[in-house]
Amino acid sequence: MSQCYLLLGTNIGDKKRNLLQARDAIVERIGKITNPSAIYQTSAWGKEDQDDFLNQVLEVETALNPEQLLAICLEIEKDLGRVRFEHWGERLIDIDILYYEDQVITSQRLTVPHPEIQNRKFTLIPLVELAPDFIHPKMNQTNKDLLGLCTDPLEVVKIE
Ligand code: AMP
Repeated sequence: MSQCYLLLGTNIGDKKRNLLQARDAIVERIGKITNPSAIYQTSAWGKEDQDDFLNQVLEVETALNPEQLLAICLEIEKDLGRVRFEHWGERLIDIDILYYEDQVITSQRLTVPHPEIQNRKFTLIPLVELAPDFIHPKMNQTNKDLLGLCTDPLEVVKIE
């Protein structure tokens, strides 16, 4: 079993329900959610004309390898988009792989750790809630230290 951290993001429709459905699909197809963060609300990053986002980070235990994990994340994004809001398709829910154990992966399809972790408070704040002392295997700094250094100005509010 491997431990990974996934980031959920949604800014369309019934956002809490989108997160719930994504968590259900993750439990069914990826593995056990060992620790969910609170849900946070953030303004749309770099796109102020869009609706606010809800974000949540999940610590998940999985038997899938990183490539399989990515394939299932993309499949869940597609399935939830298709079932709920056909015309919004895959944009209904976004699932990013933040960390997979302490692996560093650079392939055409997959970059792990996710390259934007250190730039986004909506990622770092829930990550610090779950794993403040986890060391980013490329930057060699803890999530807590990365949050301290992050200059992202967008406000991130814990809603539940
Ligand atoms: P986006 O919709 O911006 O999240 O981009 C999705 C695409 O990013 C996918 O098709 C993946 O091939 C690629 N990708 C690269 N690294 C990652 C990662 N760590 N997590 C999720 N998607 C990734």
